Amino acid sequence: MSSVFPDPLSGLFSVRKSQKARRISLRVVSGRLEVVLPRGVSESVVPEVLARHQKWIERHLSGFRDVHHARGAALVPDRICLVALNESFRVEIGDGGAGRVKAENVVVVPQETAHAVVGLRKWLCRVARSFFLSELGSCAATTGLEWGALRVGMPKTRWGSCSCRGTISLNARLLFLAPSLVRHVVIHELCHLKHPNHGRMFHELLQSFDPLAVIHARQLKYARYAIPMWAA
Ligand SMILES: [Zn+2]
Repeated sequence: MSSVFPDPLSGLFSVRKSQKARRISLRVVSGRLEVVLPRGVSESVVPEVLARHQKWIERHLSGFRDVHHARGAALVPDRICLVALNESFRVEIGDGGAGRVKAENVVVVPQETAHAVVGLRKWLCRVARSFFLSELGSCAATTGLEWGALRVGMPKTRWGSCSCRGTISLNARLLFLAPSLVRHVVIHELCHLKHPNHGRMFHELLQSFDPLAVIHARQLKYARYAIPMWAA
């Protein structure tokens, strides 16, 4: 039995559940990272495992991204798993607009790799927008913090930001992460509406709504390993 997290074909790592394994281990198979979990161990431990072994991972996978960028074909996945939504989507090659949604959980992209990737990224931003709107709605209700507008993009370095006018910007790549991490980022940005800094008051407020804020922030540092090539 093997189970894959977050994306069997394009993710930077996969998770295999092994009946035989006695302990959690990391392996590099064909240039890709594999996390092996013994029976009964939940996939929710994966971010923590990646965080703990960051140095080892970077040593063994250095240069890996460049190799993948050179192999254009590997960029377009057959399946996309959006962990935040707990949903997976099939990618089909076909005519029509880039990133067209043909049926429920089927995305159609053009054959040409560069266009397909652009289409997938546009599609991701559209899916992200509606998901973030509902997350912002529920987090605003919980925290009582009112936001102004939402911007969704795929900036290279930031998961989110908050402007002095109350515009919350969120990174569509968050969809590849666990729901708890998305919620953490949304609450983090909402807290900036009250404290536009990372001072003590800000962290106290954040922690009051997200008691695991310190752990979540640490997991976010390594979350880039969960982003598939086409979205990275
Ligand atoms: Zn911040």
